[in-house]
Amino acid sequence: MPSGDKLSYEKYDYVCIGGGSGGIASARRAAQYGKKVALIEATARLGGTCVNIGCVPKKLMWHAADIAETIRSASCYQFKGLGTEPPQFSWSDFVIQRNSYVRKLNDIYASNLAKDGVTHHAGRARLLSPTLISITPLNGCPEYTIEASQICIATGARPRILDDNHVPGASLGIDSDRFFELTCQPKRVAIVGAGYIAVELSGIFRSLGTEVHVIVRKGDTFLGMFADPLIQDTVHSWMERSGVKVHMNSSVLRAQRVGANVQTSPIEVYTDQGEMLEVDVLLWAIGRLPNTENLGLESVGIMLDDARNIVVDDYQNTSVKGISAIGDVTGKAMLTPVAIQAGRRLANRLFGGIAFQDDHLDYANIPTVVFSHPPIGAIGLTEPQAREKYGDAVKTYTSTFTALYFSMMDPAHKEPSVYKLIVVGPQERVVGIHIFGLGSDEVLQGFGVALKMGVCKRDLDETIAIHPSSGEELVTLR
Ligand code: FAD
Ligand code: NDP
Repeated sequence: MPSGDKLSYEKYDYVCIGGGSGGIASARRAAQYGKKVALIEATARLGGTCVNIGCVPKKLMWHAADIAETIRSASCYQFKGLGTEPPQFSWSDFVIQRNSYVRKLNDIYASNLAKDGVTHHAGRARLLSPTLISITPLNGCPEYTIEASQICIATGARPRILDDNHVPGASLGIDSDRFFELTCQPKRVAIVGAGYIAVELSGIFRSLGTEVHVIVRKGDTFLGMFADPLIQDTVHSWMERSGVKVHMNSSVLRAQRVGANVQTSPIEVYTDQGEMLEVDVLLWAIGRLPNTENLGLESVGIMLDDARNIVVDDYQNTSVKGISAIGDVTGKAMLTPVAIQAGRRLANRLFGGIAFQDDHLDYANIPTVVFSHPPIGAIGLTEPQAREKYGDAVKTYTSTFTALYFSMMDPAHKEPSVYKLIVVGPQERVVGIHIFGLGSDEVLQGFGVALKMGVCKRDLDETIAIHPSSGEELVTLR
């Protein structure tokens, strides 16, 4: 709107670009301080990756897979009348139910924003200057501009996929976004990668009865740097024992569809090891790329790293004053609670007054869980990382056991549990906890608090065990 010589735009104290975990958390916190806040989201659904195509629908699929495992185990606990055929999982019905739950969450996010007085702009944002943002509305209305004293970029990341020039036929494959679009269960899948998503989705498919191939490129180990070697080895051997076909040191050379039906004809996947795998779905799980394109970042001088992540300091400041960035777009610890905490603490620091002037997220010792079957939990240093930092002052304690739950089952179905504690110095301060086995997802959270508080081995020894449980292993290690 013209006002005198200068154009004037709707002005906000704070604008978050991206309506995912980080953007929503930060915008709401700022609004709770009484600030005038806007949030811009480029898709029709609030909640971002976690809610729509990440943690939430993934964990629901994981629960379904877990129930399949329990049903298979029921006869070992002398449940009768299950029939000769196990109950069938209807993938297509479950997807409808799962999606309707996710839509409910989308609505809850919208109403929470409204409750806190955050203005939601549905459209794609682009920076025009350090204070001006243009918005291309989703509804096709003309582009318009808003002004902000402070801007937070929280545009997240997207799956990386190889192009057909690099690997002929790569585009026949899907990524994790399109995993959630599968409306029926494939009989055979090939998953490329060895990270979080490859491990989680292979476990879900396998437990639900799909034939699973995992293709791991040369030099890679499962879960790379973040998992301790003991956990990597145990995960690898358990995957193979439980029926996943793991193709180590192997890369996809090309893929082709055999048959005319783009939905149902099988795909032949050829590897550099001379193998040909015939599958119904080829799934790339080879990492994620930050959403930093077409945002006007270069034009306002925001510095990116070699992987095109936005570079931020400890306080989430970018290289441009008044513009910060949080969450996956910064490429650091790509986890929902990290994006949320970074966003809330940023809003505290900007608008919470003197008490919060130094507030920022501590990226050290972030607990994380891989929802494999069984799950993996990790916090702190792996043994190689600890040895590099502390040398001979490092000591480890390990326990390999079978959870009581599996005592009723035949050996083939007994899942392993492996726990490892890494301590340093004469005080035996705990610097790493790595656990794999039934219930690890729930066990880790409390021990994560203890590690963050500086727990020593002796404190764990002084704690009375909860028996019978898996968690008790961590307070009885010798
Ligand atoms: P996002 O949630 O991705 O939000 C970014 C938003 O910005 C998106 O909605 C996008 O549409 C919007 N946007 C992009 N560009 C623009 C633009 N120009 N204008 C306006 N809006 C824009 N983490 C966990 O902690 N636990 C898990 O179990 C877990 N499981 C996962 C499973 C999968 C399959 C995946 C892919 C991820 C998983 N994660 C998990 C990671 C987690 O989802 C992310 O770390 C988290 O969602 C990051 O939040 P964010 O706010 O940074 O970005
Ligand atoms: P990750 O970075 O975890 O793993 C990517 C894997 O693909 C690595 O094994 C990588 O090897 C491999 N890779 C990379 N390029 C190629 C290639 N060209 N060919 C074959 N393999 C390749 O990424 P994900 O996609 O699994 O997950 C992305 C992020 O999302 C995670 O890092 C995590 O932060 C988050 N996430 C969190 C979850 C949770 O909290 N439970 C669940 C799912 C995702 P290399 O290591 O050698 O590069």
